[in-house]
Amino acid sequence: MAAIPKALCVGLPKNAIRCNATVSHISRDEIVLSDGTHLHAKQTLLATEIGTAMRLLGERWPIENIPSTIQTSIQTSIQTSKSKKPTAQVLPEQSTHCVYFSLDAATAPTHTPILFLEGNPPSRDWFINHVAFPSLVQSSYAPKDKVLASVNILGKTDVQGQELVRIVQHELEAWFGWSVRHWKHLRTYSIPKAFLTPTLPIPIEESFGIQTTADGVILCGDYTGTSSIEGAIQSGRIAAKRIIDEIH
Ligand SMILES: Cc1cc2nc3c(=O)[nH]c(=O)nc-3n(C[C@H](O)[C@H](O)[C@H](O)COP(=O)(O)OP(=O)(O)OC[C@H]3O[C@@H](n4cnc5c(N)ncnc54)[C@H](O)[C@@H]3O)c2cc1C
Repeated sequence: MAAIPKALCVGLPKNAIRCNATVSHISRDEIVLSDGTHLHAKQTLLATEIGTAMRLLGERWPIENIPSTIQTSIQTSIQTSKSKKPTAQVLPEQSTHCVYFSLDAATAPTHTPILFLEGNPPSRDWFINHVAFPSLVQSSYAPKDKVLASVNILGKTDVQGQELVRIVQHELEAWFGWSVRHWKHLRTYSIPKAFLTPTLPIPIEESFGIQTTADGVILCGDYTGTSSIEGAIQSGRIAAKRIIDEIH
C-alpha cells in the first residue's frame, strides 16, 4: 500500500513530511512530540486510527458527533476506564492474518486486478476470507516473471506458523487448482487491531466525515466514514477542504 502515500506525496515541498515522530499532545494550533519538540500551525488535523485519537483527545473526544454504534463503544470505554484516559479496548476492532505467496506469472489464476471473495457463510471449516494479487495493481510489488498473492484470514485463529500456511495452501488448492502447490510462502503478518468491524452503514452525505473537537482540532480517518482506504481518503479530502476554507 506504500504506493498510495508515495503517489500522494508527489509535488509536496521537501521536508513537508516528518516521519518516525510520535505525537503525545495535540491542540488546534500546537502539537507536542514524544521527544518534547513543540510544533505550531494555524490548524492541526488528527489523522491517526481511532484508538490513538481517543487517547490523545481524552475528554475532548467529540462523542456527540460519532454514529451510535461507535458511540456506544466509546461511552463503555470511558465508563470502564473511570479515572483513566479512554482506551480503545472495547471498540469493535477486528484482527486479521495476511499470508503472502510468490508464484510464477505464467500460472497465475488471473491477470486481472480483482478480489476473490469466499462466498460461503462464515465458518471455521474455511479459513480464507479473500485472496488478492496486489502486483497486478502495482507492478513494483513483484519481479517481472512473478505475481504476489495476498491471502486474508479474518478474526482470531489458534493456528499459526507453518501449520497455518499448510492449511491455507490446502484451501487455496480448492480455489485455484493444483498449481498452488508451487506457490512459495513469503511471510505471514498477524495484525491484532487491523480495523473496526464495519457495522456502520455507508455514509451518503459528505459532511458526515467532518469531526471537530470543541477546541478546534479536526479529525479524519477511516473511522469517520467507512473502514477502508476509500473511506480514509474521502475523509482526508473533506477535512482538507474544511481547513483550506477556514484558513483562506
Ligand atoms: C492487513 C490490512 C489489509 C487491508 N486491506 C485493505 C484493502 O485491500 N482495501 C481497503 O480499502 N482497505 C484495506 N485495509 C484498511 C485500510 O488500510 C484502512 O482503512 C486505512 O489505512 C485507514 O487509513 P487511516 O488514514 O484512517 O488510518 P491509518 O492508515 O491507520 O493511519 C494512521 C496513522 O497514524 C499514525 N499514528 C498513530 N499514532 C500516532 C501518534 N501518536 N503520532 C504520530 N502518528 C501516529 C500511524 O502510524 C499511521 O500511520 C486494510 C487494513 C489492513 C490492516
